[in-house]
Amino acid sequence: MSFQKLDELGHKLEALEHALAILGADEATHMAVGGGEKRAEAMAALAGMLHRQATAPEIADWIAAAEQEELSHDQRLAVAEFRRNHLNLTCLPAEFVERMTRERLRTEQLWRDLRAKNDWASFEPALETIVTLVREEAAMRSDVLKLDPYDALMEQYDPGNRAAGITPVFTELKAFLRDFVPQALNAQERRNAVRPVKPLSGVYPVDKQRELGLAMMAAVGFNLTHGSLSVSHHPFCGGVPTDVRITTRYKTGDFLSALMGVLHETGHALYEQNLPSEWAHWPLGKARGMAVHESQSLFVEKQLGRNPNFWRWALPVVEKHLGEDWSIDDILPHVHHIERGFIRVDADEVTYPLHVILRYELEQDLVGGRLEVADLPEAWDAKMRDCLGLSTIDNPADGPMQDVHWAGGAFGYFPSYTLGAMMAAQQWAAFEHQHPDANNQLARGDFEPVNQWRRDNIWCQGSRHSTPALMEKATGEALNARFFIDHLRQRYGE
Ligand SMILES: [Zn+2]
Repeated sequence: MSFQKLDELGHKLEALEHALAILGADEATHMAVGGGEKRAEAMAALAGMLHRQATAPEIADWIAAAEQEELSHDQRLAVAEFRRNHLNLTCLPAEFVERMTRERLRTEQLWRDLRAKNDWASFEPALETIVTLVREEAAMRSDVLKLDPYDALMEQYDPGNRAAGITPVFTELKAFLRDFVPQALNAQERRNAVRPVKPLSGVYPVDKQRELGLAMMAAVGFNLTHGSLSVSHHPFCGGVPTDVRITTRYKTGDFLSALMGVLHETGHALYEQNLPSEWAHWPLGKARGMAVHESQSLFVEKQLGRNPNFWRWALPVVEKHLGEDWSIDDILPHVHHIERGFIRVDADEVTYPLHVILRYELEQDLVGGRLEVADLPEAWDAKMRDCLGLSTIDNPADGPMQDVHWAGGAFGYFPSYTLGAMMAAQQWAAFEHQHPDANNQLARGDFEPVNQWRRDNIWCQGSRHSTPALMEKATGEALNARFFIDHLRQRYGE
């Protein structure tokens, strides 16, 4: 039976993915510096094995044969995901993948060095090479998948997402934010004039912050027998669903930054820990995609973790671990602080989408050949001035050089961040609609109802549906900017 062969293949691939995920998480957290070279060799060898096994020519035949077999509904869905996965993995020739991998690694290393020196002139030719390769890649993917070139790139990250669906939603959000950002900043200034912001400065030992983080993780549903918390330079959620590795980094003078990071990664972890375990070795049992994943992390960090009711419950927990007590009016100005800035990763939830929409617009033009890398600094600067009133023309390090994504050839990824934020707002609205008591539940620290809702509607679904279909089934309607806009108005408006 061909389905049986796919099922066995799934187990083999899962084992290799497991090893790679744990080695990768370990590299960023516990590996001795001297272990780097051999670790890279080991991981490259395993990644090669994984790729060869996942793209073996006979798999296409197994899939075609399995499609003719008598299968259960879930098995049929599993075969469809095997096909989608196989197609996305095999649509580029091996020679191209090798060339692309080499250029990406070279440009990423160059980016690290040149960004620190703010040296656009030396970076430009390397990025040009990447953009040329990405245009080739998009054309090849487009041929096989029968999608527009930019859609074919997005398909890797969020199956089913199309520019034709996203652009109107982003256009509505952008139009709203251009007026709303100055209004929200004025409102913040007025609030702070009435009640001056009390600094949260103090000395918060790392071990106490870690205990606080673990307590919060457990409270919001993280299963500590299937995951752990470590320290890394860049926070991430890695590992495997049965052993999820999340990380944070600590600043001893500010406990909020690590805590918010922990909540964000816990959101990713909850999704992984609650995926359907009986399908763990099928592509069908994996998380749907980057936007849905980000919707789960932002759900915990923004929809729950920055909700004033959450803080009614959380403040005593913070006091217990750090020994200082703040009032809700002390803490909220920090949790809801907004400002215009150059850097996407430092942006708050009000200004963040503008950083993403700017990149979404520019990368479509780059992929489509309507914009060349040489003209990127000017194009970036024009959009930055238009959206946020800031100029980056003399400072490319904080302009088109600030993210590693493009240097690494990841085009079509940026929209996932803001789609995730919008999806999280829409999910909370749907949950609140069914549970009018939602805010009181948060104030009591009762996260089970909201987790049960996400378990049923998102987590247990694995990859049954495309990204847009999953959202529609979970919330009763297609992605709609209104929910995120209402959320921002309510939290940051007058
Ligand atoms: Zn995230």
